[in-house]
Amino acid sequence: MQISKVMVVGAGQMGTGIAQVCIQAGFEVVLHDVKSDILEKARTQMSEGLTRAVAKREMTEQEMATSLSRLQTSTNLAESSTCDLIIEAIIEDLTLKKELFKKLDQMIPTHAILASNTSSLPITEMAAVTNRPDKVIGMHFMNPVPVMELVEMIRGLQTSDHTYETMHTLANQLGKTAVEVKDFPGFVSNRVLMPMINEAIYAVYEGVATPKDIDTVMKLGMNHPMGPLTLADFIGLDTCLSIMEILHEGFSDSKYRPCPLLRQYVKAGWLGKKAGQGFFEYT
Ligand code: NAD
Repeated sequence: MQISKVMVVGAGQMGTGIAQVCIQAGFEVVLHDVKSDILEKARTQMSEGLTRAVAKREMTEQEMATSLSRLQTSTNLAESSTCDLIIEAIIEDLTLKKELFKKLDQMIPTHAILASNTSSLPITEMAAVTNRPDKVIGMHFMNPVPVMELVEMIRGLQTSDHTYETMHTLANQLGKTAVEVKDFPGFVSNRVLMPMINEAIYAVYEGVATPKDIDTVMKLGMNHPMGPLTLADFIGLDTCLSIMEILHEGFSDSKYRPCPLLRQYVKAGWLGKKAGQGFFEYT
């Protein structure tokens, strides 16, 4: 199937990055969010990202202008009626995502594919609220999207081979490497990553070492490019907490219990880099 026009729903850190790689790869993009100031911020961030790419000679000024001309922003979800693919990147909340999929299913063309960038929620359950479960798939980009090469492609129980192949090809067109993963809590990436982050938070909670020293152990001792607590701040502590809750509930296994300190930070609004405060301070 030929995809030419994409709607990205949710212009947060992930949606903005996804829209950017799509316009760079030559797709027409409608970026949708609930408020126009969020969309303005996303457009500015995208332009800054592309300006940096020009400075690094990764693209010309002309290519940057052409890419930005492919971007439309809108608070009107009904703009999806002319799109071949919708990539959902709203907050990690299954009820909200299901509501959105139900609405989109009524609005978009019959051939259109519905993809979710969820980090951990069940694709099969989102697909079940639509009349096109064969055309629903998980497309889990990594943060920051323009930099990270991996996309986990999650096949729901009813995702068709045709949908999978179309989206695998699209991931390659975006310059990404796609890995096929089955629809189980946390997929592969977060099932392995999040318990490590949660354990690092327990180490802070129990006073084993400071956040800075815990990150240093993992960077210098394990050759990780970024410490787990810095990474948690970048991902967003609210997102980390909801993924741990999904693993905990999905596997009914206490080894996935979220650290009380993580819950406390989220309750305080210390959500990491996006809030200016998490395990570290950001100005
Ligand atoms: P974010 O909080 O930065 O952005 C979410 C955006 O969605 C906000 O701009 C919000 O206004 C918008 N939104 C909320 N409800 C909406 C609705 N009904 N319609 C339209 N827009 C709506 O979140 P994020 O970090 O970009 O994460 C988005 C998704 O990507 C989540 O599912 C998350 O699990 C997943 N994800 C996040 C990361 C990460 O590192 N942050 C990595 C991979 C995947």
